[in-house]
Amino acid sequence: MTKPVISREDVKALDQHDPLQPFKREFYQERFYYMDGNSLGLLSKRSEETLSTSLNDWKKHAIGGWTEGEEPWFYMSEKIGALTAPLIGAKPEEVINTGSITSNIHQLLATFYKPEGKRTKILADELNFPSDIHAMKSQIKWHGLDPEEHLIRVQSVDGYTLSEDTIIKEMDEDIAVLLLPSVLYRSGQLLDIEKITRAAHEYGIIVGFDLAHSIGALPHRLNEWGVDFAVWCTYKYLNSGPGGVGGLYVNKKHLGKSPGLAGWFSSDKDKQFDMSHELTPAETAGAFQIGTPHVLSSAPLIGSLELFEEAGIQQIREKSLKLTRLLMDLIHQELSGYGFKIGNPLNDESRGGHVCLVHDEAASICKALKQEAIIPDFRSPNVIRLAPIAFYTSYEDVYDVVLRLKDIMENEKQKQFKNERDTIA
Ligand SMILES: *Cc1c(COP(=O)(O)O)cnc(C)c1O
Repeated sequence: MTKPVISREDVKALDQHDPLQPFKREFYQERFYYMDGNSLGLLSKRSEETLSTSLNDWKKHAIGGWTEGEEPWFYMSEKIGALTAPLIGAKPEEVINTGSITSNIHQLLATFYKPEGKRTKILADELNFPSDIHAMKSQIKWHGLDPEEHLIRVQSVDGYTLSEDTIIKEMDEDIAVLLLPSVLYRSGQLLDIEKITRAAHEYGIIVGFDLAHSIGALPHRLNEWGVDFAVWCTYKYLNSGPGGVGGLYVNKKHLGKSPGLAGWFSSDKDKQFDMSHELTPAETAGAFQIGTPHVLSSAPLIGSLELFEEAGIQQIREKSLKLTRLLMDLIHQELSGYGFKIGNPLNDESRGGHVCLVHDEAASICKALKQEAIIPDFRSPNVIRLAPIAFYTSYEDVYDVVLRLKDIMENEKQKQFKNERDTIA
């Protein structure tokens, strides 16, 4: 049976019935179709407000802003942690706003990766983002070990996706820690976190996940699944702005543990200003902070997280799945014969928040898209990532994007550009 053709009227009707439609107005989006919210989310009016609250606290209270402002800086990281907890299925005390993905990986490996006896290896994957791999290798080297031997990278069969069963087959008693992405940054594959965690725990492996491409896009149940630790950034789906402070989660069963990398902000808050040389670590995930929080790079997140609370992550996931489904259906309908291949898993259970479009001319097509006011992103050598964001992408936007892409291909507009990446792709 052939599928019915999707028309503009159809997508308009979807927008009319979209419960998240009012949120589009909360974001600044000018003159372009923004399909790159999985690299840098858009600014919301709410984030602008909470950033300006912190600036005003500085203006009015100077040093007093730490405790006396409208949004006291001393407690901000914990407050943001508590606001983030529902997005990942964690308890408030298990989450803290701090650092970046990479620095948080260093912190948590310094805490949990203790090579001993036979158990000396880290289990990762060959498709992971470079920074995660750099951090894992350097941690292995810190222990005087050889990353070639001690970093195990699960292989991918197709170069885009991983098989959970293959990951599980690599597990044994030699592995100390596992660190995998929840959603792969290139293909958008969503791994079965629960299944992987359960299997790893049978081998006594500490389980960590990098939620860069899933936090804010879909719900998680980290505490229930028993995931030991997790890290994420907040400038992607969480819309905290460029360089926005990241976050980490440590399962309750590990709270009270001394941080591998300590600093005065690791302290129990009541003791911090005793200025003792003996650290009393916080009994919460706050213990994994190191130095003074980056207040102005955290403040926008408060406003953004209010929007998530209002919309509900379940509803965001439902719309996100419909948007990516529509995008794939339209690509199938309008773009067959132009050499595109879909690199992400097609089923809902294994799909994150973006569509991975594979094409030999991906770099030049991305440049042509930008010329047509569409912002995609390119991942070398041949991937165009398109992320329709539940908060601010309408179904009709998706329709327009595909029609403009079709126009590019029909008229070979990509041929005006070199098929090479720019400095930032
Ligand atoms: C975006 C991203 C990063 C970036 O790390 P930062 O330390 O925040 O710069 C790391 N890993 C993955 C998987 C990412 O998607």
